[in-house]
Amino acid sequence: MGILDTAGNLIDQGVAGAKKGTKSISLKTQIGDVVKKREATCAQLGAAVYDQMRDNPEFRAPHDAFFTSIEGFDVQIETLKSELASLENPPQEAPVMSDAAPASAQPDAAPAPQADAPVMSDAAPAPAPDAGAPEAVAAGKFCTSCGQQSPQESMFCGGCGAKL
Ligand SMILES: [Zn+2]
Repeated sequence: MGILDTAGNLIDQGVAGAKKGTKSISLKTQIGDVVKKREATCAQLGAAVYDQMRDNPEFRAPHDAFFTSIEGFDVQIETLKSELASLENPPQEAPVMSDAAPASAQPDAAPAPQADAPVMSDAAPAPAPDAGAPEAVAAGKFCTSCGQQSPQESMFCGGCGAKL
């Protein structure tokens, strides 16, 4: 057995190993393909079973979690679809709100009736609240986010923190 024979054996072994590796990869690929086909077929079967059995309590009971999940997904799909639809086709008759309208309406509003203020007793009239604060608030501005009124000089809404 000469050195060339040894080299030849090594080469043969290498070729055999390479062929083995190629065959192995090919088989793994085939297995993966068939597994994918199986999963796709199972999904189709599942969809068919879902449609047929969703209203069959006896069948459904042991698999209820799956049915409930699928129903939840259906709701999500419908919600997302309608969200997409309204994004792509915004409603035409959306009311155009002018900023001026609410402001001009307020001064015309009838003054609040004062007569209903409860009178507890003749004795000891309630101490007047601090006179300064209410005036400032009355001249304040309204938050466009939450509607809360804040003093005119406020930079941020006292209710929600939005910038005013
Ligand atoms: Zn606010």
